[in-house]
Amino acid sequence: MVGKTALVTGGSRGIGRGIAERLAQDGARVGVHYGSNEAAAKETVAAIERSGGSAFAIGAELGVPGDAAALWAAFDAHADGLDILVNNAGIGTSRPFADTDESEYDRLFAVNARAPYFITRLGAERLRDGGRIINISSGVSHAAVLPDIMTYAMTKGALDVFTRNLSKVLGPRGITVNAVAPGIVDTDINAAWLRGEDNKDAWAGAAAMSALGRVGTTQDIADVVAFLAAPDGRWVTGQWIDATGGSLA
Ligand code: NAP
Repeated sequence: MVGKTALVTGGSRGIGRGIAERLAQDGARVGVHYGSNEAAAKETVAAIERSGGSAFAIGAELGVPGDAAALWAAFDAHADGLDILVNNAGIGTSRPFADTDESEYDRLFAVNARAPYFITRLGAERLRDGGRIINISSGVSHAAVLPDIMTYAMTKGALDVFTRNLSKVLGPRGITVNAVAPGIVDTDINAAWLRGEDNKDAWAGAAAMSALGRVGTTQDIADVVAFLAAPDGRWVTGQWIDATGGSLA
């Protein structure tokens, strides 16, 4: 990926950081996006540079009006076009169906579905022909394994439909569009549940969901994204790639 430029939304922490580090390791120059935690983004950029890679941090809060335009304005100050866009930034929910009010519903859709839609729409003008778009979905969009996070799952369902259709829209330009669906991965998004003091069984329960008997790591997901982003992934598009460690098998 030497000579390629990538942008990873939410690249400052968790799965996004893993993806940013892996793409940089493969030679790409990586834009590490963050929302509010600038220190985490700077730490990720520093880690990439320590390993001999190239990266820059850009901040833009997502889920608010004008978010995509603000993100690209920040990106344009550092780079002239891009080759790989990873729509990774996302939020979870702790509210089951009965407790979900309109503002929670709107916030989830604004960050997880609306933001990637408009980031991609404005980004398509900057993405070079032959480029890659990878949307980070979730196993819960294909199976009702965690119905308490139904609204979150619905946002990922929207992202999946976007992915399939966009592959046809951008295919004539040689751009591939795919979704990667993690299962349960050890990150901040689910730390309160997965590592909660009052929930000692959560880790073992999460590990047992996978056919491979463990909780996913950010590297597990980053390696799948790297395949799709690399030349080897050129003939895969419009797909939903299960990266749940067999949780849905
Ligand atoms: P995470 O550790 O909480 O990291 C989230 C990242 O997204 C951070 O870089 C954060 O930046 C950014 N972000 C969140 N809300 C934002 C907002 N409103 N505006 C701008 N940036 C925002 O989450 P993760 O677990 O790595 O999740 C990454 C993706 O994987 C998400 O789309 C998630 O739905 C998906 N996923 C995760 C799991 C899992 O088990 N972890 C499973 C399936 C799918 P700041 O810190 O600056 O806010």
